[in-house]
Amino acid sequence: MRIPLIAGNWKMNGSLAMNASLLEGIRAGAVGLGAELAVCVPAPYFAQAQAALAGAGVAWGAQDVSLHDSGAYTGEVSVSMLKDFACQYVIVGHSERRSYHGETDEQVAQKAVRAIAGGLTPIVCVGETLQQREQGETNAVVARQLAPVLAAVGADLAKIVIAYEPVWAIGTGKTATPDMAQQVHELIRATLAQSDAAAAAKVRILYGGSMKPDNAAELLAKPDIDGGLIGGAALKATDFLAIANAA
Ligand code: PEP
Repeated sequence: MRIPLIAGNWKMNGSLAMNASLLEGIRAGAVGLGAELAVCVPAPYFAQAQAALAGAGVAWGAQDVSLHDSGAYTGEVSVSMLKDFACQYVIVGHSERRSYHGETDEQVAQKAVRAIAGGLTPIVCVGETLQQREQGETNAVVARQLAPVLAAVGADLAKIVIAYEPVWAIGTGKTATPDMAQQVHELIRATLAQSDAAAAAKVRILYGGSMKPDNAAELLAKPDIDGGLIGGAALKATDFLAIANAA
């Protein structure tokens, strides 16, 4: 059985004061849930998340990680730095990293490998743009993004989380219908199963893209949707917790 995961992606939002009340709200509401919770916060706030969430049963993590261990990589943050703050998760290959920072499918795959080697769980994002969907390329795009990840993680497949995030649904208020999302999630699981059927049955595949309290239950009811990667709605504790309650 796959325990649902509701992971917040705060993106480049927050301040010490805002985070304090958000984390306190999440901490207070994170009891008796049937889902695991995680928040992926900006790197300067790892210590704050670690202190605020200690013992709360809510994990924290990062939104990206370097391909390198250490050295002359200005601005980058390594796996071991994430480990210093007890991060458990790291998002890799978010569409904003792919489009604004030119991350390739191969780099995303290598980041996933680095994360696993360091004992972190990578949340590997895949998903098509609106143009790709309209041209009927969704399945091919997702398969192309997954292929290097599957090749790179090999026998560690069960150690990753995947997030299907149609780019056209991120931050736009447009959500994939539950059936549209399920169709891609099913395809993703079938693709994983070609590498390792037992692992494919264990991997959690999250949906991301304008998931909100009012559409979460329908999406999460689908058999291959095992949680959510939540952007905007993760910045309000009541919304984030309402989504977790729907899981
Ligand atoms: C995201 O960026 O991962 C995301 C899903 O954002 P939103 O929920 O705001 O669409």
